[in-house]
Amino acid sequence: SKDQGHNGYSFFSKQLATEVEKRAERINALKSAIRNGKEFHLLYQPKISISTGKIVGMEALVRWESESFGLLGPDEFIDLLEETNLIIPFGAWVTQKACSDFMSLYNEGYSIKQVSINISTIQLFNSDIVEMMDRIIKNTKIPPKMIELEITESFSADYKEQVLQTLYTLRHMGIELAIDDFGTGYSSMAYLQKLPVTRLKIDKSFVDGIPVSKESIAIVKAIVALAKTFDLNVTAEGVETEVQLRYLKDLGCDEVQGYYYAKPMDLETLKTLCAKINQ
Ligand code: C2E
Ligand code: MG
Ligand code: MG
Ligand code: MG
Repeated sequence: SKDQGHNGYSFFSKQLATEVEKRAERINALKSAIRNGKEFHLLYQPKISISTGKIVGMEALVRWESESFGLLGPDEFIDLLEETNLIIPFGAWVTQKACSDFMSLYNEGYSIKQVSINISTIQLFNSDIVEMMDRIIKNTKIPPKMIELEITESFSADYKEQVLQTLYTLRHMGIELAIDDFGTGYSSMAYLQKLPVTRLKIDKSFVDGIPVSKESIAIVKAIVALAKTFDLNVTAEGVETEVQLRYLKDLGCDEVQGYYYAKPMDLETLKTLCAKINQ
């Protein structure tokens, strides 16, 4: 820009140029990863029913084994996918892969009931997610009620009638809808009443507070009560200790997910674990 003067780049703008280059490099790497379909893989974290101790669900969590950047977790690249709208073809890949992995498990007789897939707000706003789900259901022959889409509260501040319509259509198709990281977004009881969701997932930050923080326990209690009022299932994420599990059980939580039971794992490892626990 003009204020850089005529004597070349300032230190700041050199640094900025490097940042811009790095970003462009990452975007290119993501584009080719989406194209070649080889660098992303999905891990699955089991969801356990507190009352039966069995694995009832599995959540797909993506990893990127990048040729240039090494192994990366979603927190390091989802934002960039969202900013560039690449999240749309990426999200289609994740959903297709997770549903077909689930069906391989299902067809082999494993008794997991549902696969959960994280959906970005951008996919709800900027893409035809209904068309995508319809196509994937036809491709994989997955029963729609065996799909759960996890959405976050972030859209609710300015959610549009159109997004609400999309959510209703997905529900009418039989797909289940969970609010992820519940309690951290723009929670309002008024909008919960409007949303056609089937589950609340209590954010890990509240589970972390058990048993030390009275406030965290009170929040968990309130979320469970809210869920019961709206006839929703409730899952706690990030459960790491037996004490947390006991509290969550006493508070009336239905399902748990967390390192206490299992970390995210590949499909084969999940099959082995499932054979051990569910059969
Ligand atoms: P999330 O959906 O809330 O997933 C829970 C995160 O907590 C996962 O991190 C999981 O590995 C981690 N976790 C589970 N149990 C424990 C525990 O007991 N202790 C600790 N410390 N961590 C635990 P991950 O895999 O790094 O995913 C981070 C976030 O990235 C996810 O949060 C989700 O919002 C997003 N994400 C992951 N995969 C996808 C995807 O395919 N599409 C989209 N749009 N977002 C994704
Ligand atoms: Mg999730
Ligand atoms: Mg979550
Ligand atoms: Mg979370």
